[in-house]
Amino acid sequence: MDVRVGDVLTMKKQHPCGSNEMLVLRSGMDFRLRCVGCGREFMVPRSKIEKSIKRINRENER
Ligand SMILES: [Zn+2]
Repeated sequence: MDVRVGDVLTMKKQHPCGSNEMLVLRSGMDFRLRCVGCGREFMVPRSKIEKSIKRINRENER
């Protein structure tokens, strides 16, 4: 799955704060994500994140 820095991921599961959108801050073996709702950041292994992505939103592609 092609996930890039700057993408906003719509997740299948909601974060406890109620948002299901995550901004990608870093990609690689592990992803660094920031919750759009509450601003919390976390590291997630690629294998885990790929299963929970519902949609990739890429605004900066023209
Ligand atoms: Zn949150």
